[in-house]
Amino acid sequence: MKKPKKLMALILATGLVVVPLTGCSSSKDVIGLGSPSYNLENIAFPLKEEVSLNIMTQSSPLAPEDPNEKLIYKRLQEETNVKINWTNYTWDEFGEKRNLDIAAGDVPDAILQAGMSDYDLLKYADQGVIIPLEDLIDKYMPNLKKVFDENPEYRKLSTAPDGHIYSFPWIEELGKDKGSIQSVDCMGWINKAWLDELGLEMPETTEDLKAVLKAFKENDLNKNGKNDEIPLSFIINDGGQDPAFLFASFGLGDNWDHTVVDNNGKVILTAQQEGYKDAINYLHSLYKEGLIDKEAFEQDWNTYLAKGKDQRYGLYFTWDKANISGAGDDYVLLPPLKGPDGTQNVTRTNGMGFERGRMVITTANKNLELTAKWIDKLYEPIQSVQNNWGTYGDETQQNVFEYDKANNMLKHLPLEGTSPQEIRQKTEVAGPLAILNDYYGTVTTMPDDAAWRLELMNTLVPYMKADNIYPKVFFSKEELEELTTIETDLFAYINRMRAEWIVNGKADKEWDKYLSELKRLKVDRWLEIKQDGYDRVSK
Ligand code: CA
Repeated sequence: MKKPKKLMALILATGLVVVPLTGCSSSKDVIGLGSPSYNLENIAFPLKEEVSLNIMTQSSPLAPEDPNEKLIYKRLQEETNVKINWTNYTWDEFGEKRNLDIAAGDVPDAILQAGMSDYDLLKYADQGVIIPLEDLIDKYMPNLKKVFDENPEYRKLSTAPDGHIYSFPWIEELGKDKGSIQSVDCMGWINKAWLDELGLEMPETTEDLKAVLKAFKENDLNKNGKNDEIPLSFIINDGGQDPAFLFASFGLGDNWDHTVVDNNGKVILTAQQEGYKDAINYLHSLYKEGLIDKEAFEQDWNTYLAKGKDQRYGLYFTWDKANISGAGDDYVLLPPLKGPDGTQNVTRTNGMGFERGRMVITTANKNLELTAKWIDKLYEPIQSVQNNWGTYGDETQQNVFEYDKANNMLKHLPLEGTSPQEIRQKTEVAGPLAILNDYYGTVTTMPDDAAWRLELMNTLVPYMKADNIYPKVFFSKEELEELTTIETDLFAYINRMRAEWIVNGKADKEWDKYLSELKRLKVDRWLEIKQDGYDRVSK
């Protein structure tokens, strides 16, 4: 569902690819690896004679090298009689290879799992590499059109400032608004077994938490004769692994992009609020007492995971404990804590189950109706569900679903200890799809891990003070360029100071200087652009 974010130092909300593209300045440069025109019209699947399309994609290193070996694609080929010739790159190399291929003019009919940022979409549209899709959607794509017609916000979010739709989105609804699964990225997991062992209650305030962490430090709770318990760990500035959750006891709180919207619709940078500084001072007080993992400021996912697997943490942060300390009952959700002045808040992560740039069609494509209708198959409800999570009836490996033929419904099978991420990576196709809340109970059951996490969300929702998140605004190219230029320095500075202050405790002393530096780095202009974008989509 969600792969751990690498340290995201420079490329933030705008996702501007820094590598410049050369040699591809206009459509005539697109040599194209498009299929020949089949002159097909009024297409209905399956086709009488097999044809092929050339599509570039990316997949997990755990997945088969040839995507056609995935059962989902085998079935799709049978249903359509369209064979896909894949150019498949693994995740780690995809971004670079995709850019190089496009720059060289090696452009296929379409790119699935395209990983296109908004800037990519606008740039490749300008360069004549990708085409506008809105007419194809209206003419040939009843499944996607239905999603857009019934949920106009998704059409709005998919539409560029110039009025065109350049990509097919990924839509995954799991819960709604405050209660959506993305609402809190960095959940805290506290070692309940240790609390019980020490006869301690669940902390209710930030001071309670400090006392609990001290007790974790002073006792040999894993009974190995070594003082190897780690009261608190995290990965600073790393999305779900960051301790941002704790900031909310001191005011507006914080999230990975330091952006919140108050209930009057004003966009606010968390990192220049007084309460933000208070939270950093609190974390420093924990650091000073030796309660924070020394590696919290430098460790990568694997180091974080290794200690978590050994259950050495008293409290740590991540999306889902199952990925770190396991799904057992030893760790439970940390509730929102009351701060020194009684503030109790849960800051919302600016996330939603929507990604714009999942698939594009290129100017090398000579079979638009065929391609659009093939892509629309991916938006069939029962197909979308499999694209996202995996399939049923595979005799060669573990299945995610069983198929209930009588009800034409997919039912999740027990995972039997397998990591949901691993099994999905092997069998899913991801790409463009739509799963709406009303599919649950009619088209599919909800995955156990999502149902469980949504249940936990119920204990956090009552404390969320913000009515709105900062949504996925589609900025113009000029706005994106300006935002990215500012963010590169501004966010690097904010994140660096955040980490330094937790360690050295100089936040009070250096605060005024820091605020002037934020001004120099154009924080006010950044806020202005973000506010304009917010006002455009919220009206
Ligand atoms: Ca020990």
